[in-house]
Amino acid sequence: MKDPLTIADWGEFGFIEALRQRLPEATDDLKLGIGDDAAWWSPLAGQGILTTTDMLVEGVHFDFEYTSAADLGYKSLAVNLSDLAAMGGSPSCVYLSLALPARLEKVWLESFVDAFLLLAKEYGVQLAGGDTVQADQMVISVTLCGLALKGKPILRGGALVGDDIYLSGSFGDSYLGLKLLQGDLQAPSALNESADFLKNRHLRPTPRVALGEMLAASGAVSAMLDVSDGVLADLGHLLTDSGGLGAELEVSRLPLSFAARDFFEADLVDYVALLAGGEDYELLFTASPKQRSKIETLAAKAVVELTRIGRITVAEGVFMLADGSRTALGARGGYDHFQHQGC
Ligand code: ADP
Ligand code: MG
Repeated sequence: MKDPLTIADWGEFGFIEALRQRLPEATDDLKLGIGDDAAWWSPLAGQGILTTTDMLVEGVHFDFEYTSAADLGYKSLAVNLSDLAAMGGSPSCVYLSLALPARLEKVWLESFVDAFLLLAKEYGVQLAGGDTVQADQMVISVTLCGLALKGKPILRGGALVGDDIYLSGSFGDSYLGLKLLQGDLQAPSALNESADFLKNRHLRPTPRVALGEMLAASGAVSAMLDVSDGVLADLGHLLTDSGGLGAELEVSRLPLSFAARDFFEADLVDYVALLAGGEDYELLFTASPKQRSKIETLAAKAVVELTRIGRITVAEGVFMLADGSRTALGARGGYDHFQHQGC
């Protein structure tokens, strides 16, 4: 490939990889830097301090047309809570940095902050600082810190051949919700209730913090991440980081919500689009088949459904198993902010 001249040619992932290669060797206390849902810092032996950061930009990640101040305040923290949940961590402190246009109304900002702090309270998180500056476009940057149970988080790269693959909740809801909010998909009036459910799943995803903690405590999980880029892309990350493995997904087991099923049965969406759709913020994890009964016991206690959706294979690639046939799904990288490849 020609040497890239701009970040658009280079791509988000090309840049991050080049940055990574320029870094000096990490000191022993930084157990895990760039590459997982959160970084893992261990200044004292046995400690697991986790940090994660995410940025939301007006016009890129949200649109004022259909996102209220309260929705945004909620979601900017929820997505970070999800990243910590994906490591099996418990959140503790958060930093909130805001770039705000001068025209922004006080009531909007109050509503944003109230929703942010309400969610923080619900998850026992304290606001520890941040930064506020003026800019033409709104940018929200949230950094969340937490602790890993017994000092050791669950990483993306621990899956082994033969492991079962599990997913919490359902998939594709947020994708459908976004399409409905953007007006790219029209709900027939009989599906209005389902449409409201899906829009809410997009605007107010539930971070699976208690589930992540429970899974970490069980010791049964080999690898985990949260579904922010879509089941296919995120499963791809897990497979790559686990040394280049593959996966088989059983179509009959894939958990659709009642609302996504309505849209699927009305032929308004297909499985692959739902599997590629991002922002469900559910947990995708793997465990040895020996752990099945332990996971079933956990599932009975969890507030969200856990479904075994497939298994890890030695052959690379992701395949769908349905009615005795095995179909390959194309490789799907994560969403690249500059190249818009993947889903
Ligand atoms: P996520 O989807 O969890 O937000 P990203 O795909 O945004 O993760 O980022 C991938 C990895 O690259 C993460 O570990 C993140 O911390 C790191 N990263 C992204 N941008 C930068 C940057 N500008 N400097 C250092 N690390 C970065
Ligand atoms: Mg990111």
